[in-house]
Amino acid sequence: MKTERKIYTVKELCEGFVYNSLEEKGLYGLAGKLTIQPEYQRNYLYAEDNGKMELAVIDSVVKGYPLGVIYFNKRKDGQLEVLDGQQRITSLGRFCTDKFSYEIDGMPYKFSRIKDEKLRKRIENTELLVYICEGSEMEIRKWFDIINIVGIELREQERLNAIYSGTFVTLAKTVFSNSRNSEVQKWSTYISGNVKRQDFLAAALDWVSHGHVKDYMEAHRDDYTIDELHDHFNDVISWIESEFGKTYKEMCGLPWGKLYDRFHSQPPKKQENTEAVERLMDDPYVKNRRGIFEYVLGGQQDKRLLDIRIFDEATKRIVYRRQTQEAKQQGVSNCPYCVIGPEAHRTKIWDMKDMDADHVSAWSKGGVTSIDNCQMLCRTHNRIKGNK
Ligand SMILES: [Zn+2]
Repeated sequence: MKTERKIYTVKELCEGFVYNSLEEKGLYGLAGKLTIQPEYQRNYLYAEDNGKMELAVIDSVVKGYPLGVIYFNKRKDGQLEVLDGQQRITSLGRFCTDKFSYEIDGMPYKFSRIKDEKLRKRIENTELLVYICEGSEMEIRKWFDIINIVGIELREQERLNAIYSGTFVTLAKTVFSNSRNSEVQKWSTYISGNVKRQDFLAAALDWVSHGHVKDYMEAHRDDYTIDELHDHFNDVISWIESEFGKTYKEMCGLPWGKLYDRFHSQPPKKQENTEAVERLMDDPYVKNRRGIFEYVLGGQQDKRLLDIRIFDEATKRIVYRRQTQEAKQQGVSNCPYCVIGPEAHRTKIWDMKDMDADHVSAWSKGGVTSIDNCQMLCRTHNRIKGNK
């Protein structure tokens, strides 16, 4: 890989700057010779959070702080692409084209309205150090992975978009990485993360590929359609809506793709499920509310998903002492199930450490986690009863 060191001024870089506000990205600079956001770059993030980051870029220029090294890739046709520095160049370009204001002596100024001509010239003449690299696609991509360790770290999906850039990623991004897509609001009930950081695309790919995202992206890289991806995604979302009539914040970020794979072929029980979820959400003994949905979908069998609140140590000790005392008086085992079990354990007195607390009246049948509903069972019997 060849590299060339070059100095550009802010003015040069921002010449002919075009910002596409629909796609939220800076497009061109250097009078058209520079593509600011090639396919594998992420959307512009510096305007988020009230533009704190883009203002920091202008602040650095005004104060004469260095902006860090910028990297371009020189394509075979001679066109330059930003490999690293897109966010900084877009900030500068947006400022120089009056897209946002910078505060001077407490007053906000668009660039062209800055009265101090010297300051304006100083901004325009600020020099940026650029390395221009030329090499094979693979070399550039590998190296792009390395330089992106700095700055806003790339998410795994952003990295994959870079590695498998092509028609498929471009199409997929127009649907799943588009903050103007009116469905994003609905999706964020079930998927956590940021649409611009590719978290929705990551979920869609994970679902359709059953966890084999890389293989899927590689196989479909040059596709001119994303129908399968889009359809599967919509299927999962509609399936969730067909099973649950109400939404909860605990639904966000659940492994919906896997749940769909396991349960979508059974007939939906929307009303029953909705009622069950409501009841369990209000149940003070359910510690893991996020487990409720899988528990309900699985026919309310696997209580481990709910992490039911257990008896505390003091309660267990009191019950153990009472049970053991009574058992010794009667000459039987202190595990009530051992008493009626095989000969060998009928009179066995278990140590506290070999016993577990059990709900006499099962929690799943409305039994509460209080001392009156607590009994100690030997490990074996506790396990057997717990599975029923
Ligand atoms: Zn027992």
